[in-house]
Amino acid sequence: MIPGPGWIEIDVDAIAHNVATVRRELGTTPLCAVVKADAYGHGVDLVLPVLMAAGVDTIGVTANEEAHGARRRGFRGRILRVRPALREEIEDAAAADVEEWAGGLANAREIDAAARAIGRRIRVHVSINATGLSRDGVDLGAASGREELNAIGALPGVHPIGVCAHFPCEDERDVAEGAEAFRIQSAHTAELLGTDATDALERHCATSFAALTVPASRFDLARVGAALYGDTSARTGPLKQALRLLSRVAAINVYPAGSTVGYDRTHTTARASRLAVVPIGYADGFHRVLGGRAEVLVGGRRAPVVDRHAMNTVLIDITDHPAVRVGDEVVLAGAQGSDAITMRDLEHASGQIAADLYTAWGRLLPRRVRGGEPS
Ligand SMILES: *Cc1c(COP(=O)(O)O)cnc(C)c1O
Repeated sequence: MIPGPGWIEIDVDAIAHNVATVRRELGTTPLCAVVKADAYGHGVDLVLPVLMAAGVDTIGVTANEEAHGARRRGFRGRILRVRPALREEIEDAAAADVEEWAGGLANAREIDAAARAIGRRIRVHVSINATGLSRDGVDLGAASGREELNAIGALPGVHPIGVCAHFPCEDERDVAEGAEAFRIQSAHTAELLGTDATDALERHCATSFAALTVPASRFDLARVGAALYGDTSARTGPLKQALRLLSRVAAINVYPAGSTVGYDRTHTTARASRLAVVPIGYADGFHRVLGGRAEVLVGGRRAPVVDRHAMNTVLIDITDHPAVRVGDEVVLAGAQGSDAITMRDLEHASGQIAADLYTAWGRLLPRRVRGGEPS
C-alpha cells in the first residue's frame, strides 16, 4: 500500500522529553497525564508506553476505548475520566476500573444507577463550579448547590474520592482567583458530601497552563494534557512539539500576473507566479479557514497558502523558491530545516486553538512514528 498523500508524524522522544520536563516543574505534585481524544490525536498506543516507561501512574481519559486500551496494554495505575459520562459508558467502564467525573446531581444519579447495575460502588470526583466554567460543576454559591452535594453524598452507589474543577481561561490572574475559590469551596464540599469523605478528598483543578503558571492551582494532582504534546502557552522549560503534519508537492504550474486563484477568486497574482498543489485539504482536517492565511515550509523556507482551498488540495506560492520540485516534502505543521510552523502560527492563522486542528488530524490521517528506537 502506498502511504497517504498527507500524514502526521509523532516524535515519541519529544513526548518523553515533555513528560520529564513537566514532572520536573511539578515537583512533588502527582501528574495525571491526559490522553483523551486518542492522546490529543497523537495515538494512545504510542503515548501510553512512554508514560508507563516514565512511571506515570494516573491517566485522564474521556472515551471508554482509551481506558480499555490502556488496560489491554498493561497499564495498572489509576484512570480518571475528565468529563461527565453516559450511564452505558459508566457501566462499561467499570471493567477498566475508571474513576468517574460526577458532573452535578443528575449525572451522579446516573453513576449511582450504573453502580447498582454492576453491583458495587463507583469512585467519583465531584465537580464544583468554583472557577466559574459553569459546565458541569455544582455551584456552591446557590442554596440548591449545597443541597445537591448533600444528595450526592447520600447516593449509596457513589463513592466520592475527589473534588475537582476546570478553568475557563488561560490567564494567570483568572487562574489564581479560581484556584483560591477552589481552595475554599473544596473544603466546604467535603463537609457537605458527608463525614466519610471529609478527610480523604483529593483536590484537583489544574490543567497544563494552570499547573505550569500558577503553582497554587496544583493542589493534590495536576491534570496535564497539552503540555505533554508540546502545545502550551504557559511559559515553561523548553517543550518540544511532538506532531508534524506533512505532505508533498504534487503539481507545479506558472500563471501570469493578474490571474485569480482558487475558489471565489480570493487571490490575484501580482506577478507571474509559480504555484504548487499540495494534496491535502479541509477533508483532511486542514480547515478551510486556513486558506489564504497559513504558511507552510518547503525546502526549509516559508511559502504562503494562497487559495481558499479545496477538499483535498491547497495551493502554495513558490515563486520565490525556484529549487522546489514535484515530490518535495511540504510541512504544514512542525519543523523543517531550521524553521518551524508552530502551534501558535496555526492559531494566528485559524483564529482557533491548535488542538481544534490536530485532534482532527489524528483521526483523519495516517500516522508515522519518529524516535523511540534505541540508538
Ligand atoms: C483536557 C482537560 C484537561 C487537560 O487540559 P490541558 O490544557 O490539555 O492540559 C484537564 N482537565 C479537564 C477536565 C480536561 O477536559
